[in-house]
Amino acid sequence: AGVDGLKISDAPLPKSKNLNVLSELEKSKPKRSASFVVVGHVDAGKSTMMGRLLLDLKVVDQRTVDKLQKEAKTEGKGSFHLAWVLDQRPEERSRGITMDIATRRFETERTAFTILDAPGHAEYIYNMIAGASQADFAVLVIDASTDAFESGLKGQTREHSLLIRSMGVSRVVVAINKLDTVAWSQERFNEIKDQMSGFLSTANFQPKNIAFVPVSGLYGDNLVHRSSNPAASWYTGPTLIEELENSEPSTRALEKPLRMTVFEVYRTMQSPVTVSGRIEAGSLQMGDALLVQPSGQRAYVKSILSNDAPADWAVAGQNVVLHLSQIDPIHVRDGDIICDPAKPVLRADTFTLKALAFDILMPMPVEVHRGRLNQAGRIAAIPALLDKTSGTVVKKKPKIVKPGMVARIVVKLESQIPLEAGQRVVLRSGGQTVAAGLLE
Ligand code: GDP
Repeated sequence: AGVDGLKISDAPLPKSKNLNVLSELEKSKPKRSASFVVVGHVDAGKSTMMGRLLLDLKVVDQRTVDKLQKEAKTEGKGSFHLAWVLDQRPEERSRGITMDIATRRFETERTAFTILDAPGHAEYIYNMIAGASQADFAVLVIDASTDAFESGLKGQTREHSLLIRSMGVSRVVVAINKLDTVAWSQERFNEIKDQMSGFLSTANFQPKNIAFVPVSGLYGDNLVHRSSNPAASWYTGPTLIEELENSEPSTRALEKPLRMTVFEVYRTMQSPVTVSGRIEAGSLQMGDALLVQPSGQRAYVKSILSNDAPADWAVAGQNVVLHLSQIDPIHVRDGDIICDPAKPVLRADTFTLKALAFDILMPMPVEVHRGRLNQAGRIAAIPALLDKTSGTVVKKKPKIVKPGMVARIVVKLESQIPLEAGQRVVLRSGGQTVAAGLLE
Protein backbone atom coordinates (compact mmCIF):
# COMPACT_ATOMS: atom_id res chain seq x y z
CA ALA A 1 0.00 0.00 0.00
CA GLY A 2 2.74 2.46 -0.87
CA VAL A 3 2.09 5.77 -2.55
CA ASP A 4 4.93 7.40 -4.50
CA GLY A 5 7.28 5.09 -2.67
CA LEU A 6 5.88 6.22 0.65
CA LYS A 7 4.68 3.56 3.04
CA ILE A 8 1.39 4.58 4.57
CA SER A 9 1.05 1.92 7.19
CA ASP A 10 2.68 -1.26 8.34
CA ALA A 11 -0.59 -2.57 9.71
CA PRO A 12 -1.74 -5.82 8.10
CA LEU A 13 -4.33 -5.34 5.39
CA PRO A 14 -7.90 -5.71 6.62
CA LYS A 15 -9.67 -8.89 5.58
CA SER A 16 -13.02 -8.83 3.88
CA LYS A 17 -15.76 -10.40 5.95
CA ASN A 18 -16.80 -12.34 2.87
CA LEU A 19 -20.48 -11.94 3.59
CA ASN A 20 -22.99 -12.69 0.90
CA VAL A 21 -24.38 -9.19 0.91
CA LEU A 22 -27.43 -9.99 -1.18
CA SER A 23 -28.60 -12.69 1.17
CA GLU A 24 -27.82 -10.44 4.17
CA LEU A 25 -30.05 -7.86 2.53
CA GLU A 26 -32.84 -10.41 2.13
CA LYS A 27 -32.60 -11.30 5.81
CA SER A 28 -32.50 -7.75 7.14
CA LYS A 29 -35.64 -6.52 5.34
CA PRO A 30 -34.58 -2.89 5.55
CA LYS A 31 -37.10 -0.07 5.57
CA ARG A 32 -37.85 1.20 2.09
CA SER A 33 -35.61 4.14 1.34
CA ALA A 34 -36.17 6.89 -1.19
CA SER A 35 -34.36 10.08 -1.98
CA PHE A 36 -35.56 13.21 -3.72
CA VAL A 37 -34.47 16.66 -4.85
CA VAL A 38 -36.48 19.82 -4.35
CA VAL A 39 -36.43 22.13 -7.34
CA GLY A 40 -38.24 25.23 -8.57
CA HIS A 41 -37.88 28.93 -9.22
CA VAL A 42 -36.18 31.07 -6.59
CA ASP A 43 -38.72 32.19 -3.95
CA ALA A 44 -41.25 29.53 -4.97
CA GLY A 45 -41.15 28.45 -1.33
CA LYS A 46 -38.87 25.37 -1.41
CA SER A 47 -37.11 25.84 1.91
CA THR A 48 -40.22 27.07 3.69
CA MET A 49 -42.06 23.97 2.54
CA MET A 50 -39.34 21.55 3.58
CA GLY A 51 -38.97 23.29 6.95
CA ARG A 52 -42.69 23.07 7.53
CA LEU A 53 -42.78 19.45 6.42
CA LEU A 54 -40.07 18.55 8.93
CA LEU A 55 -41.87 20.49 11.65
CA ASP A 56 -45.21 18.80 10.95
CA LEU A 57 -43.51 15.40 10.90
CA LYS A 58 -41.90 16.35 14.23
CA VAL A 59 -38.40 15.88 12.81
CA VAL A 60 -37.59 19.34 14.15
CA ASP A 61 -39.40 20.71 17.19
CA GLN A 62 -41.41 23.84 17.71
CA ARG A 63 -38.72 25.16 20.07
CA THR A 64 -36.15 25.20 17.29
CA VAL A 65 -38.63 26.90 15.02
CA ASP A 66 -39.60 29.45 17.73
CA LYS A 67 -35.95 30.27 18.30
CA LEU A 68 -35.38 30.81 14.60
CA GLN A 69 -38.56 32.84 14.35
CA LYS A 70 -37.31 35.15 17.08
CA GLU A 71 -33.97 35.58 15.36
CA ALA A 72 -35.71 36.23 12.07
CA LYS A 73 -37.94 38.90 13.65
CA THR A 74 -34.92 40.64 15.16
CA GLU A 75 -33.55 40.91 11.67
CA GLY A 76 -36.91 41.99 10.27
CA LYS A 77 -37.33 38.93 8.12
CA GLY A 78 -40.69 37.71 9.44
CA SER A 79 -41.73 34.56 7.66
CA PHE A 80 -38.27 33.40 6.69
CA HIS A 81 -37.85 31.44 9.91
CA LEU A 82 -39.00 28.15 8.44
CA ALA A 83 -36.55 28.47 5.62
CA TRP A 84 -33.81 28.75 8.23
CA VAL A 85 -34.58 25.33 9.60
CA LEU A 86 -33.01 23.80 6.54
CA ASP A 87 -30.25 26.30 6.08
CA GLN A 88 -28.59 25.48 9.39
CA ARG A 89 -25.35 23.59 9.07
CA PRO A 90 -24.66 21.05 11.79
CA GLU A 91 -21.66 21.66 14.05
CA GLU A 92 -20.97 17.94 14.30
CA ARG A 93 -19.72 17.92 10.77
CA SER A 94 -16.10 18.32 11.81
CA ARG A 95 -16.45 15.31 14.08
CA GLY A 96 -17.55 13.41 11.04
CA ILE A 97 -20.48 11.72 12.69
CA THR A 98 -23.14 13.47 10.72
CA MET A 99 -22.62 14.51 7.17
CA ASP A 100 -24.25 17.53 5.69
CA ILE A 101 -26.84 15.49 3.92
CA ALA A 102 -27.83 13.59 7.07
CA THR A 103 -29.63 16.57 8.57
CA ARG A 104 -32.04 16.32 5.71
CA ARG A 105 -33.19 12.84 6.41
CA PHE A 106 -36.55 11.92 7.85
CA GLU A 107 -38.64 8.84 8.27
CA THR A 108 -42.26 8.00 8.10
CA GLU A 109 -43.64 4.67 9.19
CA ARG A 110 -43.12 3.24 5.72
CA THR A 111 -40.11 5.01 4.26
CA ALA A 112 -36.74 6.52 5.12
CA PHE A 113 -36.40 9.68 3.01
CA THR A 114 -33.33 11.68 2.11
CA ILE A 115 -33.66 15.21 0.78
CA LEU A 116 -30.78 15.45 -1.64
CA ASP A 117 -30.22 19.15 -2.09
CA ALA A 118 -29.39 22.28 -0.22
CA PRO A 119 -32.02 24.97 -0.65
CA GLY A 120 -30.56 28.40 -0.16
CA HIS A 121 -27.10 27.28 -1.16
CA ALA A 122 -25.25 29.88 -3.17
CA GLU A 123 -24.29 27.35 -5.78
CA TYR A 124 -27.74 25.88 -5.89
CA ILE A 125 -27.58 24.67 -9.46
CA TYR A 126 -24.46 22.58 -8.82
CA ASN A 127 -26.05 20.90 -5.84
CA MET A 128 -29.17 20.32 -7.83
CA ILE A 129 -27.26 18.58 -10.59
CA ALA A 130 -25.43 16.46 -8.04
CA GLY A 131 -28.67 15.77 -6.19
CA ALA A 132 -30.72 14.98 -9.28
CA SER A 133 -28.18 12.48 -10.53
CA GLN A 134 -28.83 10.48 -7.33
CA ALA A 135 -32.53 11.09 -6.81
CA ASP A 136 -35.39 8.62 -7.06
CA PHE A 137 -37.81 11.44 -7.75
CA ALA A 138 -38.21 15.21 -7.56
CA VAL A 139 -40.50 17.66 -5.83
CA LEU A 140 -41.11 20.63 -8.10
CA VAL A 141 -42.36 23.67 -6.19
CA ILE A 142 -44.45 26.21 -8.08
CA ASP A 143 -45.60 29.60 -6.80
CA ALA A 144 -49.30 29.86 -7.65
CA SER A 145 -49.63 33.53 -6.76
CA THR A 146 -50.67 35.93 -9.50
CA ASP A 147 -48.06 36.14 -12.29
CA ALA A 148 -45.48 34.21 -10.25
CA PHE A 149 -46.18 30.90 -12.01
CA GLU A 150 -45.95 32.59 -15.39
CA SER A 151 -42.62 34.23 -14.66
CA GLY A 152 -41.35 31.04 -13.01
CA LEU A 153 -42.05 29.07 -16.16
CA LYS A 154 -39.95 31.52 -18.13
CA GLY A 155 -37.34 31.23 -15.40
CA GLN A 156 -36.07 28.25 -13.49
CA THR A 157 -39.21 26.07 -13.51
CA ARG A 158 -38.52 25.16 -17.12
CA GLU A 159 -34.77 24.79 -16.77
CA HIS A 160 -35.05 22.67 -13.61
CA SER A 161 -37.69 20.36 -15.11
CA LEU A 162 -35.57 19.68 -18.18
CA LEU A 163 -32.49 19.27 -16.08
CA ILE A 164 -33.91 16.71 -13.66
CA ARG A 165 -35.40 14.71 -16.52
CA SER A 166 -32.08 14.63 -18.36
CA MET A 167 -30.41 13.52 -15.13
CA GLY A 168 -32.60 10.45 -15.15
CA VAL A 169 -35.35 11.50 -12.74
CA SER A 170 -38.59 10.10 -14.10
CA ARG A 171 -41.14 10.90 -11.39
CA VAL A 172 -42.07 14.38 -10.28
CA VAL A 173 -44.43 15.54 -7.53
CA VAL A 174 -45.54 19.07 -8.37
CA ALA A 175 -46.39 21.07 -5.26
CA ILE A 176 -48.54 23.99 -6.38
CA ASN A 177 -47.69 26.30 -3.52
CA LYS A 178 -48.90 29.53 -1.90
CA LEU A 179 -52.53 28.73 -2.72
CA ASP A 180 -53.39 30.84 0.35
CA THR A 181 -52.45 33.92 -1.72
CA VAL A 182 -55.14 33.15 -4.31
CA ALA A 183 -57.87 32.21 -1.78
CA TRP A 184 -57.43 28.52 -2.64
CA SER A 185 -58.80 29.05 -6.13
CA GLN A 186 -59.48 25.71 -7.77
CA GLU A 187 -59.44 27.41 -11.19
CA ARG A 188 -55.94 28.68 -10.58
CA PHE A 189 -54.81 25.21 -9.48
CA ASN A 190 -56.31 23.62 -12.60
CA GLU A 191 -54.89 26.28 -14.90
CA ILE A 192 -51.38 25.64 -13.58
CA LYS A 193 -51.88 21.90 -13.54
CA ASP A 194 -52.96 21.88 -17.21
CA GLN A 195 -50.06 24.01 -18.37
CA MET A 196 -47.53 22.05 -16.35
CA SER A 197 -48.90 18.68 -17.53
CA GLY A 198 -48.42 19.81 -21.12
CA PHE A 199 -44.97 21.15 -20.49
CA LEU A 200 -43.78 18.16 -18.46
CA SER A 201 -44.93 15.69 -21.09
CA THR A 202 -42.98 17.55 -23.78
CA ALA A 203 -40.03 17.32 -21.37
CA ASN A 204 -40.53 13.52 -21.56
CA PHE A 205 -42.19 12.81 -18.21
CA GLN A 206 -44.90 10.17 -18.52
CA PRO A 207 -48.33 11.30 -17.31
CA LYS A 208 -48.51 8.45 -14.79
CA ASN A 209 -45.30 9.75 -13.23
CA ILE A 210 -46.57 13.26 -12.57
CA ALA A 211 -48.60 14.16 -9.47
CA PHE A 212 -50.03 17.54 -8.43
CA VAL A 213 -50.81 18.65 -4.88
CA PRO A 214 -52.25 22.06 -3.93
CA VAL A 215 -50.42 23.28 -0.82
CA SER A 216 -49.45 26.17 1.36
CA GLY A 217 -45.96 25.52 2.65
CA LEU A 218 -46.09 28.48 4.98
CA TYR A 219 -49.26 27.38 6.76
CA GLY A 220 -48.71 23.66 6.32
CA ASP A 221 -51.89 22.94 4.34
CA ASN A 222 -51.87 19.52 2.62
CA LEU A 223 -48.25 18.77 3.49
CA VAL A 224 -48.73 16.33 6.36
CA HIS A 225 -52.12 17.55 7.57
CA ARG A 226 -55.05 18.05 5.29
CA SER A 227 -56.06 21.70 4.92
CA SER A 228 -58.77 22.70 7.39
CA ASN A 229 -59.54 25.81 5.33
CA PRO A 230 -63.13 25.51 3.95
CA ALA A 231 -61.97 27.23 0.75
CA ALA A 232 -59.64 24.28 0.18
CA SER A 233 -62.27 21.58 0.65
CA TRP A 234 -62.51 20.91 -3.10
CA TYR A 235 -59.25 19.00 -2.89
CA THR A 236 -59.65 15.45 -1.64
CA GLY A 237 -56.55 13.83 -3.17
CA PRO A 238 -53.33 12.75 -1.44
CA THR A 239 -51.31 15.13 0.73
CA LEU A 240 -47.70 15.90 -0.18
CA ILE A 241 -46.31 13.30 2.24
CA GLU A 242 -48.70 10.69 0.86
CA GLU A 243 -47.49 11.47 -2.66
CA LEU A 244 -43.88 11.15 -1.49
CA GLU A 245 -44.72 7.75 -0.05
CA ASN A 246 -46.41 6.76 -3.31
CA SER A 247 -43.15 7.29 -5.15
CA GLU A 248 -41.54 3.95 -5.83
CA PRO A 249 -37.79 4.12 -5.49
CA SER A 250 -35.99 3.38 -8.75
CA THR A 251 -34.74 -0.17 -9.13
CA ARG A 252 -31.41 -0.73 -7.46
CA ALA A 253 -28.56 -2.13 -9.49
CA LEU A 254 -27.58 -4.57 -6.76
CA GLU A 255 -25.82 -7.17 -8.83
CA LYS A 256 -23.72 -4.80 -10.92
CA PRO A 257 -20.07 -3.99 -10.06
CA LEU A 258 -19.64 -1.48 -7.23
CA ARG A 259 -19.95 2.21 -8.12
CA MET A 260 -20.06 4.90 -5.48
CA THR A 261 -19.78 8.61 -6.22
CA VAL A 262 -17.96 10.52 -3.52
CA PHE A 263 -20.03 13.42 -2.30
CA GLU A 264 -17.60 14.73 0.26
CA VAL A 265 -14.19 13.79 1.69
CA TYR A 266 -13.26 14.72 5.23
CA ARG A 267 -11.14 13.75 8.20
CA THR A 268 -12.57 12.01 11.25
CA MET A 269 -11.24 10.35 14.36
CA GLN A 270 -11.89 6.99 12.73
CA SER A 271 -9.98 7.80 9.57
CA PRO A 272 -8.14 10.67 7.89
CA VAL A 273 -9.97 9.63 4.74
CA THR A 274 -13.68 9.49 5.44
CA VAL A 275 -16.00 9.73 2.46
CA SER A 276 -19.72 10.22 2.20
CA GLY A 277 -21.75 9.39 -0.86
CA ARG A 278 -24.28 7.18 -2.45
CA ILE A 279 -23.77 3.66 -3.68
CA GLU A 280 -25.13 3.73 -7.20
CA ALA A 281 -24.53 0.10 -8.07
CA GLY A 282 -23.37 -3.08 -6.40
CA SER A 283 -22.48 -3.54 -2.77
CA LEU A 284 -19.53 -3.33 -0.41
CA GLN A 285 -18.57 -4.69 2.99
CA MET A 286 -16.06 -4.15 5.75
CA GLY A 287 -12.56 -5.09 4.69
CA ASP A 288 -13.26 -4.86 0.96
CA ALA A 289 -10.55 -3.56 -1.32
CA LEU A 290 -11.73 -0.58 -3.38
CA LEU A 291 -10.33 1.40 -6.28
CA VAL A 292 -10.59 5.19 -6.30
CA GLN A 293 -10.81 6.89 -9.69
CA PRO A 294 -9.34 9.01 -11.24
CA SER A 295 -6.34 8.57 -8.93
CA GLY A 296 -6.29 4.81 -9.55
CA GLN A 297 -5.31 4.18 -5.92
CA ARG A 298 -6.49 1.32 -3.76
CA ALA A 299 -8.15 1.71 -0.38
CA TYR A 300 -9.80 -0.59 2.12
CA VAL A 301 -13.10 -0.31 3.94
CA LYS A 302 -12.26 0.11 7.61
CA SER A 303 -15.81 0.72 8.73
CA ILE A 304 -19.20 1.75 7.37
CA LEU A 305 -21.91 4.05 8.65
CA SER A 306 -25.38 3.73 7.21
CA ASN A 307 -28.08 6.03 8.62
CA ASP A 308 -25.48 7.13 11.19
CA ALA A 309 -25.25 3.58 12.56
CA PRO A 310 -22.33 1.18 12.10
CA ALA A 311 -22.99 -1.43 9.41
CA ASP A 312 -21.10 -4.46 8.11
CA TRP A 313 -22.21 -3.92 4.56
CA ALA A 314 -24.11 -1.55 2.29
CA VAL A 315 -25.87 -1.79 -1.07
CA ALA A 316 -26.92 0.30 -4.07
CA GLY A 317 -29.40 3.01 -3.21
CA GLN A 318 -27.95 3.73 0.23
CA ASN A 319 -26.20 6.91 1.28
CA VAL A 320 -23.25 5.90 3.41
CA VAL A 321 -20.12 7.11 5.17
CA LEU A 322 -17.00 5.01 4.67
CA HIS A 323 -13.89 5.17 6.80
CA LEU A 324 -11.07 4.18 4.47
CA SER A 325 -7.64 2.86 5.32
CA GLN A 326 -4.37 2.46 3.44
CA ILE A 327 -4.85 5.51 1.23
CA ASP A 328 -3.43 9.01 1.37
CA PRO A 329 -6.02 11.84 1.50
CA ILE A 330 -4.48 13.50 -1.57
CA HIS A 331 -5.82 10.65 -3.71
CA VAL A 332 -9.51 11.11 -2.92
CA ARG A 333 -11.60 14.13 -3.90
CA ASP A 334 -15.25 15.18 -4.06
CA GLY A 335 -16.85 13.75 -7.18
CA ASP A 336 -14.47 10.77 -7.46
CA ILE A 337 -15.80 7.30 -8.14
CA ILE A 338 -15.10 4.41 -5.82
CA CYS A 339 -15.38 1.09 -7.60
CA ASP A 340 -14.66 -2.61 -7.66
CA PRO A 341 -10.93 -3.07 -8.45
CA ALA A 342 -11.78 -6.19 -10.46
CA LYS A 343 -14.33 -4.34 -12.61
CA PRO A 344 -13.25 -0.72 -12.44
CA VAL A 345 -14.68 2.33 -14.16
CA LEU A 346 -12.07 3.59 -16.63
CA ARG A 347 -10.65 7.04 -17.21
CA ALA A 348 -11.12 8.91 -20.45
CA ASP A 349 -10.80 12.42 -21.80
CA THR A 350 -13.22 12.04 -24.70
CA PHE A 351 -16.80 10.85 -24.64
CA THR A 352 -19.95 10.72 -26.73
CA LEU A 353 -23.14 12.08 -25.28
CA LYS A 354 -26.76 11.77 -26.32
CA ALA A 355 -27.76 15.23 -25.23
CA LEU A 356 -30.83 17.39 -25.00
CA ALA A 357 -29.91 20.95 -25.97
CA PHE A 358 -31.13 23.73 -23.66
CA ASP A 359 -29.37 26.34 -25.70
CA ILE A 360 -27.69 26.52 -29.10
CA LEU A 361 -24.84 24.02 -29.29
CA MET A 362 -21.89 24.19 -31.66
CA PRO A 363 -18.22 23.40 -31.31
CA MET A 364 -17.46 25.52 -28.23
CA PRO A 365 -15.90 25.42 -24.77
CA VAL A 366 -18.08 23.88 -22.04
CA GLU A 367 -17.88 22.91 -18.41
CA VAL A 368 -18.74 19.25 -17.85
CA HIS A 369 -20.59 18.35 -14.65
CA ARG A 370 -21.04 14.83 -13.41
CA GLY A 371 -22.27 14.54 -9.86
CA ARG A 372 -20.04 16.84 -7.87
CA LEU A 373 -17.28 16.73 -10.41
CA ASN A 374 -16.70 19.44 -12.93
CA GLN A 375 -14.10 19.64 -15.60
CA ALA A 376 -13.32 22.06 -18.42
CA GLY A 377 -13.67 20.77 -21.96
CA ARG A 378 -15.16 21.55 -25.32
CA ILE A 379 -17.72 20.22 -27.75
CA ALA A 380 -15.36 18.80 -30.36
CA ALA A 381 -17.87 17.45 -32.88
CA ILE A 382 -21.58 16.99 -33.49
CA PRO A 383 -21.94 13.72 -35.43
CA ALA A 384 -25.76 13.68 -35.63
CA LEU A 385 -29.14 15.10 -34.79
CA LEU A 386 -31.40 12.42 -33.31
CA ASP A 387 -35.10 11.80 -33.18
CA LYS A 388 -36.28 12.69 -29.66
CA THR A 389 -38.19 9.51 -29.01
CA SER A 390 -36.66 6.79 -31.18
CA GLY A 391 -33.09 8.05 -31.03
CA THR A 392 -32.52 7.38 -34.75
CA VAL A 393 -30.33 9.72 -36.80
CA VAL A 394 -32.33 12.44 -38.56
CA LYS A 395 -29.40 14.49 -39.83
CA LYS A 396 -25.67 13.92 -40.00
CA LYS A 397 -23.08 16.50 -38.98
CA PRO A 398 -25.34 19.48 -38.27
CA LYS A 399 -23.52 22.82 -37.88
CA ILE A 400 -25.53 23.67 -34.76
CA VAL A 401 -28.11 22.11 -32.46
CA LYS A 402 -31.11 24.24 -31.56
CA PRO A 403 -32.66 24.33 -28.06
CA GLY A 404 -35.06 21.42 -27.51
CA MET A 405 -33.30 19.16 -30.01
CA VAL A 406 -31.51 15.94 -29.18
CA ALA A 407 -28.08 15.31 -30.67
CA ARG A 408 -25.09 13.04 -30.44
CA ILE A 409 -22.12 15.15 -29.47
CA VAL A 410 -18.46 14.44 -28.83
CA VAL A 411 -16.89 16.20 -25.87
CA LYS A 412 -13.17 16.49 -25.24
CA LEU A 413 -11.90 17.19 -21.72
CA GLU A 414 -8.74 18.91 -20.56
CA SER A 415 -7.86 15.89 -18.42
CA GLN A 416 -9.11 12.38 -17.80
CA ILE A 417 -12.03 11.62 -15.52
CA PRO A 418 -13.74 8.31 -14.69
CA LEU A 419 -16.36 7.72 -17.36
CA GLU A 420 -18.65 4.95 -18.49
CA ALA A 421 -21.77 4.43 -20.55
CA GLY A 422 -25.01 5.19 -18.74
CA GLN A 423 -23.69 8.13 -16.70
CA ARG A 424 -25.60 11.39 -16.78
CA VAL A 425 -23.71 14.60 -17.39
CA VAL A 426 -24.58 18.25 -17.73
CA LEU A 427 -22.82 20.80 -19.93
CA ARG A 428 -22.71 24.41 -18.85
CA SER A 429 -21.35 27.52 -20.46
CA GLY A 430 -21.27 31.10 -19.22
CA GLY A 431 -23.18 30.20 -16.07
CA GLN A 432 -26.04 28.55 -18.01
CA THR A 433 -26.96 24.93 -18.54
CA VAL A 434 -26.60 24.37 -22.28
CA ALA A 435 -27.19 20.61 -22.49
CA ALA A 436 -27.66 17.47 -20.46
CA GLY A 437 -27.66 13.83 -21.36
CA LEU A 438 -26.54 10.26 -21.24
CA LEU A 439 -23.07 8.90 -21.97
CA GLU A 440 -23.08 6.41 -24.82
P1 GDP B 1 -37.17 29.32 -1.96
O1 GDP B 1 -36.26 30.35 -2.57
O2 GDP B 1 -37.90 28.57 -3.03
O3 GDP B 1 -36.52 28.41 -0.98
O4 GDP B 1 -38.32 30.13 -1.18
P2 GDP B 1 -38.51 30.46 0.37
O5 GDP B 1 -38.89 29.24 1.12
O6 GDP B 1 -37.32 31.21 0.85
O7 GDP B 1 -39.78 31.40 0.33
C1 GDP B 1 -39.81 32.62 -0.38
C2 GDP B 1 -40.86 33.54 0.20
O8 GDP B 1 -42.16 33.01 -0.01
C3 GDP B 1 -40.75 33.74 1.72
O9 GDP B 1 -41.05 35.08 2.00
C4 GDP B 1 -41.81 32.82 2.27
O10 GDP B 1 -42.31 33.24 3.52
C5 GDP B 1 -42.89 32.92 1.20
N1 GDP B 1 -43.72 31.72 1.19
C6 GDP B 1 -43.29 30.44 1.09
N2 GDP B 1 -44.33 29.58 1.05
C7 GDP B 1 -45.45 30.33 1.16
C8 GDP B 1 -46.86 30.03 1.19
O11 GDP B 1 -47.30 28.87 1.14
N3 GDP B 1 -47.71 31.08 1.28
C9 GDP B 1 -47.27 32.37 1.35
N4 GDP B 1 -48.18 33.32 1.44
N5 GDP B 1 -45.98 32.68 1.32
C10 GDP B 1 -45.06 31.69 1.22
